[in-house]
Amino acid sequence: MSTDESVRSKDFIRSIVERDVQRGKHGGRVVTRFPPEPNGCLHIGHAKAICLNFGIASEFPGGLCNLRFDDTNPSTETTEHVEAIIDDVRWLGFDWGDRLYFTSDYFEQLHVFASRLIQKGKAFVDDQSADEIRANNGSLTEPGRDSPYRDRSVDENLDLFARMKAGEFEEGSRVLRAKIDMASPILTLRDPIMYRIQRVHHHRTETDWYIYPMYDFAHGQSDAIEGITHSICTLEFQGHRPLYDWFIEQLELEPRPQQIEFARLNLSHTVMSKRLLRQLVDEGHVRGWDDPRLPTLRGLRRRGYTAASIRSFCAGVGVAKRDNTIELARLEHSIRQDLNLHAPRVMAVLRPLKLVIENFPEGVVDELEAVNNPEDESMGTRSVPFSRELYIERDDFMEDPPKKFFRLAPGREVRLRYAYFVTCIGVVRDAAGEVAELRCTYDPETRGGDAPDGRKVKGTLHWVSAPHALSAEVRLYEHLFTPEDPANVAEGESFLDGLNRDSLQILGDAKVEPSLADAVVGSSHQFERLGYFCVDPDSTGDRLAFNRTVTLRDTWAKIAKQAMTRAGAGGKEKR
Ligand code: ATP
Ligand code: MG
Repeated sequence: MSTDESVRSKDFIRSIVERDVQRGKHGGRVVTRFPPEPNGCLHIGHAKAICLNFGIASEFPGGLCNLRFDDTNPSTETTEHVEAIIDDVRWLGFDWGDRLYFTSDYFEQLHVFASRLIQKGKAFVDDQSADEIRANNGSLTEPGRDSPYRDRSVDENLDLFARMKAGEFEEGSRVLRAKIDMASPILTLRDPIMYRIQRVHHHRTETDWYIYPMYDFAHGQSDAIEGITHSICTLEFQGHRPLYDWFIEQLELEPRPQQIEFARLNLSHTVMSKRLLRQLVDEGHVRGWDDPRLPTLRGLRRRGYTAASIRSFCAGVGVAKRDNTIELARLEHSIRQDLNLHAPRVMAVLRPLKLVIENFPEGVVDELEAVNNPEDESMGTRSVPFSRELYIERDDFMEDPPKKFFRLAPGREVRLRYAYFVTCIGVVRDAAGEVAELRCTYDPETRGGDAPDGRKVKGTLHWVSAPHALSAEVRLYEHLFTPEDPANVAEGESFLDGLNRDSLQILGDAKVEPSLADAVVGSSHQFERLGYFCVDPDSTGDRLAFNRTVTLRDTWAKIAKQAMTRAGAGGKEKR
């Protein structure tokens, strides 16, 4: 666990739970749950909820956290998503033991609960259409109108509900509603729908059911069935709490789960709603749920994010009562910190330019020693082959450089990292007149990168030996969306308009040092001077594919430092 996690201050939810435990509420027990709907893949917002629920359970003696799939909406839910979510939660580092549950396991029980409410005169079958129900629901300023079917007898309701269950009626022809108060200022209490008819295949119960409970009827009761003590959810459920409490009260369920709401995590330059993410995937704007540009856990993982960095990010952003948006740069900061400590350094050239050392003998290979990670001596050193023909980065050469350009130019001397000083003595052009090759000399006295005469150079370049280099495809990513809050669009506009057309750049002709021949899929490496890169599953035996996880420049550290200076804290953020 990183330091961010261990020094976490107590948030308001932890304070509530701690107080409850001290007072012996819920018998002093702590049972939480993470309740995903299997209608898409998990995103970084879910990671926050996962870290919170599993985290709190782990901090109290005997605390438990269940993984429960809220699978009440069969038309959009699939077994593939169930499996992907299980895999993601486990990858993130959490364990639910044998407490894997599905709301669909409670369908019988929920049906009994619903029948009980009908018997108490607290629920009725409504024959109005969805449009009629909506039209009669009133608004924030106007009360709703009672359904003409509201006063059906208990027997008639029981009979109709049984026939709904038996599949006698068409979809949308009837619903079961709670009978509460159509004039309530709390909209969720205006005779909410409890059950609807859906003639669809459910990924677990298959064709057993023609009726499905609404999320609002299922959720609180599922919590009660599992003995959840603290039902932690996001703010949009605040307005549903009175309804959940009403159901639990009417059904006389004990013990009562206690709902606590917190603010959703929002990230800049991306969308987080599963509906929008699904649209991006289905319409092919990205390559799949695991596209490295998406804020999904699969995407972040493919991009090279570690589980530890995501946990540390979630701990760092804290738990709030009010919605806010976190800079994407802050997420990048968390992975950069992790990889800085753990990723081995290598040299790779993204846009190669050939460099030939005229005074270096042909056919000779000089094995040079390179440090694997200056942050961690225990990671040791490796040998990197140096030869007469190298590649350097095209950007590291300018024929006619401006004053502040300290890299290679005609007549200039620079250091090749871990190797020698080289001086450019000429250029070779291709048919189009472009620079195709640099001719250089090297100083054999500077092996290892220092001149014995104390002579200095201003630039140090990375390089790879041309005959030894491996070819690779490198994918560079930028924000998927240009606007900070792409989901916030005017009516008639689409969030798709904010897509950044340059969010993916594929470099097909990169050259990487031969030590990467053994790099395994998913492993992370710092390409010196360029950033952190992760081996993509698209890699084949003779051609590696890399995703740039993040560049080396830490914009978040800069923002944080400026904020600290402004606040007069005077502290320095360590980089
Ligand atoms: P979406 O709007 O993306 O579809 P959802 O809330 O419908 O999200 P669920 O699968 O129902 O998705 O979410 C499971 C749990 O994760 C819920 O408890 C929900 O409150 C929480 N959660 C979802 N999104 C976020 C977020 N952005 N930040 C924190 N928690 C979240
Ligand atoms: Mg939901």
